[in-house]
Amino acid sequence: MLFSELVETSEAVAATRSRLAKVAALAGLLKRLDTPAVVSFLIGVPSQGRIGAGWRTVGDLAVPPAAAESLTVAEVDEALGAYGTVSGKGSAGRRADLLAALFGRATAAEQGFLRRLLTGELRQGALEGVMLDAIASAADVPGAVVRRAFMLSGSLPDTAVAALNGGEAELAEVRLEVGRPVRPMLASPASSLPEAMAELGSVVVEHKLDGARIQVHRSGSEVHIFTRTLREITATVPELVDLVRAMPCTSVVLDGETLALTDDGKPRPFQETMSRFGAQDVRELLLSPFFFDCLHLDGQDLLDEPLRARLTALRTVAGPHVIPGVQDPTPDAAAAVVDASLAAGHEGVMVKSLTSSYAAGRRGSAWQKVKPVHTLDLVVLGVEWGSGRRSGKLSNLHLGARDPNGGPPVMVGKTFKGMTDELLAWQTKALADIATEDHPWGIVVNPELVIEIELDGAQVSPRYPGGLALRFARVLRYRPDKDAADADTIDAVRALLPGKAPGVGTGGGEGEGESGGT
Ligand code: AMP
Repeated sequence: MLFSELVETSEAVAATRSRLAKVAALAGLLKRLDTPAVVSFLIGVPSQGRIGAGWRTVGDLAVPPAAAESLTVAEVDEALGAYGTVSGKGSAGRRADLLAALFGRATAAEQGFLRRLLTGELRQGALEGVMLDAIASAADVPGAVVRRAFMLSGSLPDTAVAALNGGEAELAEVRLEVGRPVRPMLASPASSLPEAMAELGSVVVEHKLDGARIQVHRSGSEVHIFTRTLREITATVPELVDLVRAMPCTSVVLDGETLALTDDGKPRPFQETMSRFGAQDVRELLLSPFFFDCLHLDGQDLLDEPLRARLTALRTVAGPHVIPGVQDPTPDAAAAVVDASLAAGHEGVMVKSLTSSYAAGRRGSAWQKVKPVHTLDLVVLGVEWGSGRRSGKLSNLHLGARDPNGGPPVMVGKTFKGMTDELLAWQTKALADIATEDHPWGIVVNPELVIEIELDGAQVSPRYPGGLALRFARVLRYRPDKDAADADTIDAVRALLPGKAPGVGTGGGEGEGESGGT
């Protein structure tokens, strides 16, 4: 396939707001897929992942564009692969030569695409849902089968190749593999505890702990631990590895939350938990795990079993480390779980259907979160310079919600409230590092950082493109454990308008969109 065709499709997808039109454009191209790199490039990542050509390298490159289109997608993929493997003495020069040669064969439009691909500007986590629909459409297989294969393999390019080459049969061959992380099941906001219980029927109500998601895989004595974005952190959490190794089983896959606790069992600040995920060996602060799901036990996959059966398996293996919760509670007993969770310093509760199977990114709402305060995970789009006590600091944040149809985030408000001096100092540096435009008022940044915002609700507002604005937004904290693709959608913001039932999209676009789940 010619690289130019891919670039044109990518531009067409960006130019329309219609989900159906995006799906149709992508599906048309996928039907002629000849290398998995087609999918990687369309979602904005080189197939080798980040290959270390950043803003500086690409910005300095001034190579006259080619007059005619000749590059193929496979050739671009090969060139980027070669770039990524150059190392040792003189590698900077050789890398520059490789990049210049590639850019020299690219037209102006192709060069623009390559620049955005290499700097991460094209990274389109938001396009994931649209891409899954496009794969289903191009291969003429049910969307649920494609989603399941993606949940298990974690790779969109592999899923596309399997779908297009082998159809439904080959997708069904994709299995849970102990040691390979599964994309986590997500939750959507509930209107209220009684409504969630009425909607879901037979439920478990569990504490919702405010820590970081972990997924644990063990086969024999080999243990792997992953974050919610499927990053492996095994080496940084030896206490969890030891604990899992001691469980009474031969193989297991568990889903749970981990956090650092105070001596009297209260949660320590979220930042302290997160600090254990980054650096090596910060062991003064031990992490405690709280497991809430079991996807595999002793050779048996449990994903398709109802939650009730998975919880039975979970108790046999993780006993004392199972998250507190009550199955089939009366309304009073469920309300008591909420009180106990809040009294223990946690966020609220999760209400889960006991008959549901484990499905990542599903559009239903088998897991619903009930929290006393509204919070949203939003994407930072830009930031204004502060004045007075804050002059010289990047202060007033521009916040965006995810477009469930794969477009860029939609601005929904600004805030400079709730920031500690420490956070202000951190963001002044971190945001400057990802600036894409400089203005007298501040900077525009690459939309990649997720921040958790507490708010009173939403209101109709002509000021922003989505037609709505946040009310009394204040910063809770940055969420380094989340990507822009995990941010809440504009539908989740719209659900906070007065008189709207949360969780119900009023998008007005065609197609169902994704749930606002995070
Ligand atoms: P949120 O990030 O607010 O959308 O809430 C979903 C997250 O809550 C999950 O990804 C988990 O990290 C976390 N969580 C805490 N307690 C539970 C629980 N009992 N069941 C599922 N997820 C939980």
